[in-house]
Amino acid sequence: MSGAAAFLYNDDFMLYQFGPRHPFQPIRERLAMDTLESLGVLDGKEARVVASPPVSMERLNRVHPPEFVTEVERICLAGGLLDQGDTPGNPGLFTGALAAVGASIRGAEGIMSGEFEHAFNPAGGLHHAHPEAASGFCVFNDIAVAVRYLQREHGLQRIAVVDIDGHHGDGTQSIFYSENVLTMSLHRYSRGFFPGTGGMEERGVDEGRGYNINLPLPPGTDDEMYQQAYFSIVLPALRAYQPQFIIHQFGTDGHYKDPLVGLGLTTMGYAEIARRTHDLAHEVCDGRYLVVGGGGYEIDATRRSWAVMFAELVGGRSADEGIAALHDREAVESSQEVLSEVDRVIAKQEETALPMVEKLIRYA
Ligand SMILES: [Zn+2]
Ligand SMILES: [Zn+2]
Repeated sequence: MSGAAAFLYNDDFMLYQFGPRHPFQPIRERLAMDTLESLGVLDGKEARVVASPPVSMERLNRVHPPEFVTEVERICLAGGLLDQGDTPGNPGLFTGALAAVGASIRGAEGIMSGEFEHAFNPAGGLHHAHPEAASGFCVFNDIAVAVRYLQREHGLQRIAVVDIDGHHGDGTQSIFYSENVLTMSLHRYSRGFFPGTGGMEERGVDEGRGYNINLPLPPGTDDEMYQQAYFSIVLPALRAYQPQFIIHQFGTDGHYKDPLVGLGLTTMGYAEIARRTHDLAHEVCDGRYLVVGGGGYEIDATRRSWAVMFAELVGGRSADEGIAALHDREAVESSQEVLSEVDRVIAKQEETALPMVEKLIRYA
């Protein structure tokens, strides 16, 4: 069961970069598109490339105040640092950042109008960005801007954000911490690991209490354990919440080859996560499913992970020989310690987080 899917693209995505030696390399986005194009997936029958415009200031300003946006533009032109040091500005970056956010809006817009059913913005997923602070290679939070767009311009009241990046989605969490937007994040969590937040006790406050769920995972978590956490907590929470729209942050820096994170996912794990989330979107929200990118610092692993994910959005293509050939040949297996730590996290959130969401929805 699948309609048309859009692969969003804007040449300005390539301007969202921090120099040749920086881990963030936007070329992975074009390579994923080229791969899908060469395999015939983007031939216009079930999926196609859709050009996306930059975000308007009006929409951007719903999350990022004008003074902050002006300051970012100034720093980009002058070439200073946008955060503590990981995110240096440069003249093209501001244009690239507007394009990255614009594509998430374009995806949400096309899904809402029925122009296409699902969409992927490989330049999005900039989940560390806060309203008035860039952080961790993220300038503007496209996820939050898309949520505001869906709330204000389409009147949606239940939007779910699922974040599978290897790092905690701290910017997104904090923006919606006191609102009933369901935000869930699975990420590596260990002492000294960026950004340091993302513990199980962070559940939201006020109106948002119970609507934030973290699944902090130890380094070395493999496909099997990751999926166990995803299937036992994330999918049931989505079913309970009954979202009208799902945004999936699909950073692939949890891949076992990624140089920055240390989780143990393979392309098989990513494909399965995409398959199950796509199915669930059809089950609960008419297939309204927007996937955005995120981290992913091993360029080839990211290209392949995104290509197999996108093939899941397009009916039947994941079984294609060309797609199957993109998968990792090696397998990763969690140690006994990792296994029991992930079990502990699942048990704890099954006992606490899930009943909270179920109860909130019952009495909403
Ligand atoms: Zn579908
Ligand atoms: Zn990351």
